[in-house]
Amino acid sequence: MHTYQATENALKDKVILITGAGDGIGRVAAITYAKYGATVILLGKTTNKLECVYDEIVNAGYPKPAIVPMDLKGATKQNYRDLAATIESQFGRLDGLLNNAGILGSLGPLEHFCSSTFENIMKVNVTAQAMLTKALFPVLRKSESASIVFTSSGVGRKGREFWGPYAISKFAVEGMMQTWACEVGKTNIRVNCINPGATRTSMRAAAYPGEDRDALATPEDLMPTYLYLMSDDSSEVNGESLDAQVKK
Ligand code: NDP
Repeated sequence: MHTYQATENALKDKVILITGAGDGIGRVAAITYAKYGATVILLGKTTNKLECVYDEIVNAGYPKPAIVPMDLKGATKQNYRDLAATIESQFGRLDGLLNNAGILGSLGPLEHFCSSTFENIMKVNVTAQAMLTKALFPVLRKSESASIVFTSSGVGRKGREFWGPYAISKFAVEGMMQTWACEVGKTNIRVNCINPGATRTSMRAAAYPGEDRDALATPEDLMPTYLYLMSDDSSEVNGESLDAQVKK
């Protein structure tokens, strides 16, 4: 799907929530979805980053977005319920959920991982996504054709030394996607994963500090796959884990 070309109005009138919309891949996905006609709900930890994305979208003349400041590490069941109720009252439905927010934690041998780091990574990368998706499921059901997208990683498909709790969390994400996909079956909802591949963001820079950033793909390069899974062109696709970059 690396060559997918969305039509100008591919996401017109869709309502799509993006987690981690203030930075990195989530920021670019939010702006791209808005460019193709979606009303985007920008969820993230740092309010001023969300406000910058909001301004960019409004200044470009795309549909007016909404902002949801939320720290997924501390969010409660009630926070997710309230969010679902707000979406229901403001929009009546949700057409897309991009579970993108994630943290890397620290890399190193599993023999030495720190339990609080492990718990934080699991909370943000797995538990929060499970709880958010569950809470939003009733509003996703109200869409004619809804897409849930989780964000995986190469280290969530094949074990690699020293990627520690992050890798474990991404295996869990793949499993969560597959389980959801089996359960939604042939309904109005489809559930898939994207593996972005090495991408020029702060997370990648933290994992590979000595790397030549200019040699990496940019978040913009990944957008054909991100658009494909949110557009109705993928309405028959369920339970897949797609690579956003061509393997070299
Ligand atoms: P970045 O670190 O650039 O951005 C992560 C985003 O998640 C930020 O907007 C951040 O918000 C948000 N976030 C982090 N913690 C929380 C939290 N507790 N609550 C709410 N939001 C939070 O990462 P990338 O854009 O690189 O990564 C996006 C996704 O892609 C992640 O799931 C990552 O694992 C995955 N991925 C990335 C790859 C890469 O090479 N970049 C490769 C494979 C997978 P804030 O800025 O406010 O902290």
